[in-house]
Amino acid sequence: MSSEAGRAAVFLDRDGVINVDRGYVVRWSDFEFLPGTLPALRALQGLGYLLIIVTNQSGIGRGYYTEGDFALLSTQLIDHLAEEGIKLTAIYHCPHHPTDAQGGYRQACNCRKPAPGMLLRGLEDWDLDASRCVLVGDKPSDIAAGEAAGIGHRFYVTSGEACPGAEAVSGLPQVVQQLNVLATT
Ligand SMILES: [Mg+2]
Ligand SMILES: [Zn+2]
Repeated sequence: MSSEAGRAAVFLDRDGVINVDRGYVVRWSDFEFLPGTLPALRALQGLGYLLIIVTNQSGIGRGYYTEGDFALLSTQLIDHLAEEGIKLTAIYHCPHHPTDAQGGYRQACNCRKPAPGMLLRGLEDWDLDASRCVLVGDKPSDIAAGEAAGIGHRFYVTSGEACPGAEAVSGLPQVVQQLNVLATT
């Protein structure tokens, strides 16, 4: 990467991008990495990207699990990745839902994707150049958030339908392939 360019990160949705989406994954024993995730994260790190997770967690607002449950799983993930030589820079989560959450969690926030709040916060917290950042998601709401935040490279993990505004990929390993192509052209 050019020394004149700002820092860049790969913003990763969690469920369906890093691990199998079982719906409201909250226990480490239910956290199953998708094939090739660990080598792909290592490769992204090797390309100079920070690694940042941005994840909607309305299960907190809905009362399915607590902030503490989510924090524990996040710590277990960070620790496991560290043992694998992978540094996760940050995890941003949105606990809200506009209609189905309880108490103060029920709000139309600016962080639940497709809103760009988590991405904008990450860009500011880590002094990132949005145009050089990458977003990887498996739902159109991920891609919409990335577009709204001005993330330059957007990838949509899919086995079927494409998503406007993103390049379709089969998973993180293919994201690495595509970024390697960009890096050498
Ligand atoms: Mg997902
Ligand atoms: Zn939120």
